Amino acid sequence: MSDCLFCKIAAGEIPVEFVYEDAEVVAFRDINPQAPVHTLVVPRRHIATLNDVQPADAELIGRLYLAAQKIAADAGIAEPGYRTVFNCNAQAGQTVFHLHLHVLGGRAMHWPPG
Ligand code: IMP
Repeated sequence: MSDCLFCKIAAGEIPVEFVYEDAEVVAFRDINPQAPVHTLVVPRRHIATLNDVQPADAELIGRLYLAAQKIAADAGIAEPGYRTVFNCNAQAGQTVFHLHLHVLGGRAMHWPPG
């Protein structure tokens, strides 16, 4: 999508340091971090929300989680632990309508989330 921020970041049109990238996925630091480690794992292909994920995207979703696992290990937060979050649509707090998996860690997390 030509007007999508995360499409532009994934395509390299907006310069951002990737902490992870492969043929289908990029990851970069959140601009407004909510934890000492707060990384966004993003498919290069535009998918607006989790509701738009199709069965054919199952491998891609797995790749997002494997990227999150590596990012957590590289950041030294695999232990004691970290959180992964997809916010889906406005009531859940989604503000950027290009699918992204939050990876949050480096501090204690609370449950239930707000
Ligand atoms: P959402 O609220 O789940 O949609 O998450 C969107 C996230 O994108 C928020 O945590 C924002 O801080 C983050 N964000 C928005 N614009 C940028 C940017 O240009 N670079 C990195 N992160 C961004």
